[in-house]
Amino acid sequence: MQTELAQFIKHTSEGREAETILRKCVHCGFCNATCPTYQLLGDELDGPRGRIYLIKQMLEGAEVTAKTRLHLDRCLTCRNCETTCPSGVEYGKLIDIGRHVAEARVSQPRGDRERLLRWLVKAGLSSPLFSPAIKLGRRLRGLLPAALKAKLPAARPGGDWPSTGHPRRMLALAGCAQPALGPAINPAAARVLDRLGIQLIEAPAAGCCGAMPFHLNDHVSGRADAKRNIDVWWDYLQHGAEALVMTASGCGAFVREYAHLLRDDPDYAEKARRISAMTFDVSEIVLREKARVLQLLGTVPSGSAGKLAFHPPCTLQHGQKVRGVTEEILRAAGFALTVVEDSHLCCGSAGAYSVLQPDLAYKLRDNRLAALTAGAPQAIVSANIGCLAHLEGGTDLPVRHWIEVLDQRLCGSP
Ligand code: SF4
Ligand code: SF4
Repeated sequence: MQTELAQFIKHTSEGREAETILRKCVHCGFCNATCPTYQLLGDELDGPRGRIYLIKQMLEGAEVTAKTRLHLDRCLTCRNCETTCPSGVEYGKLIDIGRHVAEARVSQPRGDRERLLRWLVKAGLSSPLFSPAIKLGRRLRGLLPAALKAKLPAARPGGDWPSTGHPRRMLALAGCAQPALGPAINPAAARVLDRLGIQLIEAPAAGCCGAMPFHLNDHVSGRADAKRNIDVWWDYLQHGAEALVMTASGCGAFVREYAHLLRDDPDYAEKARRISAMTFDVSEIVLREKARVLQLLGTVPSGSAGKLAFHPPCTLQHGQKVRGVTEEILRAAGFALTVVEDSHLCCGSAGAYSVLQPDLAYKLRDNRLAALTAGAPQAIVSANIGCLAHLEGGTDLPVRHWIEVLDQRLCGSP
């Protein structure tokens, strides 16, 4: 796509990157076919091709209106369009630039309510009050309105973190929302890896990966979170930790982008590059040890462990391009997986999306739940705390991280 960027952005790092991405787009529209918001709204400007045009016009100097911003806000950043695109257009990077520029140049600022909501999401998740607020919400569950209740997953105790040391050590990220919403996930991962001969360590000073503020246009805070985590992890990696293990695919996708995020920072570019290269989804680590998993489980008749429906988060399948790995592990562990129609589609959670665009988010969730429950599974499993909490709010079926289910098989955890 031919572009002529305006002076305000032409000679900046963002401008050069956007121009390179825009030039790859041949405007074929294949991406619209797999875009969840285009499927729901049927408006060209609510699909990737239309949004790419809006961003191009904006970067060429066109006025940015509240309508432009709305079409960009409605994007889930699910990156399904990237998977579909035959020309390799890096839409995810382009929408980050587009939103950042739209926020700075829009002629009509957001209303007070919207600004407050966005601030609450951004500040709330990383606040030390988030965990106590979730605990209080669970205690008062009966009194909460249905919309809030649906956002509070049931409490499940985490169980013990194994105390055994191993020569092989890896790092886990606690993250901001997961310890409060899904406290059972990381201990389950630690027990599974312990049985595979790997010690999992949660570095206490690492916190939010930075994805939430960054995707809400606060690039400064997103980069600051990344640098803080790099400082904490660097020491462990220098002393033998062999990888960073991500149990939330949303965080994993973002940490894998640290190298890109900090590429122009002379103090952090090289460290960020190494950290991103050492970051893996927990499924990738377990798959490498599949022979040991099979040895521990013995002969398992196919499907004997139960029937599950797997929801692959967008951040796993489109963001990290990790596909089919969790499914292979679960099948090897004796689970039958139901056929889930359109499993490439987003559940509507998408970071802050379910709070900021609830109507679209709940339509997407209900569509996904209809597909996930069609094969009559005993439980739904996924790989990202946002998706798990969002899906759990719309079904009576158990919704778990798949590592918890594998933990039950391998370690007999309740
Ligand atoms: S599929 Fe790729 S090249 Fe075609 S319009 Fe979409 S982004 Fe552009
Ligand atoms: S990221 Fe997802 S919602 Fe946004 S344009 Fe691409 S496919 Fe559509």
